[in-house]
Amino acid sequence: MLRTQTCGELTAENEGQVAVLIGWVDAVRDHGGVRFVDLRDRYGRTQVTLHPDNLGGAEIPTLRAEQVLRIEGAVNMRPDGMRNPKLTTGDIELIATSVQVVGDCPALPFDLSDVGGGDVNEELRFQYRFLDMRRDSVKRRFILRSDLLHELRQFLHGEEFVELETPVLTKSTPEGARDFLVPSRLNPGEFYALPQSPQIFKQLFMVAGFDRYMQIVRCFRDEDLRADRQPEFTQLDLELACVEEDDVIDVVERMVAQVISRLKGIDIPTPFPRLSFADSVARYGTDAPDLRSPLVLETLDDLVDRIPFNIFQKAVEAGGHVKGLRIPGGGAWSRKVVTELEGFVKNFGAGGLAWVKSNEDAWVGPLSRFLEGESKTLVAERMHAEVGDLLLFVADAKKSVVNQSLAQLRKEIARREGHNDPEQLAVCWVTEFPLFDSDDDGNPTPCHHPFTAPHPEDVGLLDSEPLRARARAYDLVLNGFEIGGGSIRIHQRDLQERVFQRIGIGPEEAVEKFSFLLEALKYGAPPHGGIALGIDRLAMLLVGDSSIREVIAFPKTQRGGCPLTDAPSPVDPAQLAELGLELAPKVPAPTE
Ligand code: ASP
Repeated sequence: MLRTQTCGELTAENEGQVAVLIGWVDAVRDHGGVRFVDLRDRYGRTQVTLHPDNLGGAEIPTLRAEQVLRIEGAVNMRPDGMRNPKLTTGDIELIATSVQVVGDCPALPFDLSDVGGGDVNEELRFQYRFLDMRRDSVKRRFILRSDLLHELRQFLHGEEFVELETPVLTKSTPEGARDFLVPSRLNPGEFYALPQSPQIFKQLFMVAGFDRYMQIVRCFRDEDLRADRQPEFTQLDLELACVEEDDVIDVVERMVAQVISRLKGIDIPTPFPRLSFADSVARYGTDAPDLRSPLVLETLDDLVDRIPFNIFQKAVEAGGHVKGLRIPGGGAWSRKVVTELEGFVKNFGAGGLAWVKSNEDAWVGPLSRFLEGESKTLVAERMHAEVGDLLLFVADAKKSVVNQSLAQLRKEIARREGHNDPEQLAVCWVTEFPLFDSDDDGNPTPCHHPFTAPHPEDVGLLDSEPLRARARAYDLVLNGFEIGGGSIRIHQRDLQERVFQRIGIGPEEAVEKFSFLLEALKYGAPPHGGIALGIDRLAMLLVGDSSIREVIAFPKTQRGGCPLTDAPSPVDPAQLAELGLELAPKVPAPTE
């Protein structure tokens, strides 16, 4: 036996026993001839006492942080006053009778004792992720992630979901991003695509009669990276047959509530709140609202004719918006803070921030001279203003600028006001998304993906006014992050062909790209729908972090590189030749 116990196991009950431990040197303390080593592994720490007299005359080897030691010794009670009630092993020490350095370690690239590694350069931490992961705070995140996957599987297996796998070398399925391509050696000039999601395969499982499918699956999208995005990410992918929106929502709510209660001890009441896409954008400026903040946007569009402020009127005339945010008690905020907020919204394209404070005696601030008599009453009513508030407004000819800048401002104010406690989990559904967005040329492009069913009342709009058609799609939002999205699917071949046509995929192209789906829809397809949950984002929120890289073992940097392996990297010309590929002259990398 290489070891008899782990470093988190020995207690007073083992007193007098011989034990052999293997662990990393967490700390060494020298007390004139006697050395104390804290030996650490995943399970805990054990104090080892090294004294030459007990080592049969053998010399104590040179000890350095993070070496792996194998230590044999006797379990001894620590003297009174030396016990550490915070450790499971805090009552005992191991009196070493033999010490072996089984894995030596040079000077470390960074100090592992910093809790969480906050001040160590991220790239260096990811280059030496195997060291970074030795910290308790980092290890805890991955153990929580593992528990999350276990809990999800357990719940779903209990609900009769079947775990099925889908290919990684496959054909492109559109989820709206660029594909990663893999050249085929056996079919020169041809490529596989890595799946953006197993969307079509899971629909085929429904046609095959599996009824309830689950998979924890890696997906790949070649997109520009952000703190909450990686080129490869993990989804919990689900599909159910014979369901409507409420059925999918019900299973997911019960699953999420159970898992969060078990992992975090937080009870989230079901049913989760639901908001339509239109309401979400109207009230929060975004389709992924963070409901930990009580602030709500109000629109003034219908009032601008009665507010003698030119900028407001012009914005609405040009087809834009005037919207405002009321900050209760913000009347006490300093001019400096308001100036900071003005600068903040400009980062999101807003021309400025109009504001007024509703002080006890009068309204003050740049907007106050336009708000007198009727206009003041109207604005006060619409904003639900009370004495001591700060009212902030953005006007722009582009609705998206108003919504985005106020959504960000709402977030910023939540941060300043402490409405961003990671231990508070605010979840909601956003439903009734539009079926299509318009692309740069004004043509419809799927908001979710082209397999999403239109709202039954809106099928008629497909030809006349496609941009007004609603989708049977839903997103799950947690603390301002979309953690899941799905839809009821089209299960009739003719409707699927019509939607393809609408987004510019003619019959020939549809057959070339999706014949396997169109074929399957011909052979008795039941109604079905599903959802995919982003495991990385969910794990990130459950550990209370703000970057998904922290919950991915070996993450990529913002430029898509792997600091550990140095991928992507050039390949041997012989490998290219084998694939029938030749490199074009180098073009400069795109700038962000
Ligand atoms: N395949 C979709 C996605 O990855 C999810 C779904 O519709 O189930 O976003």
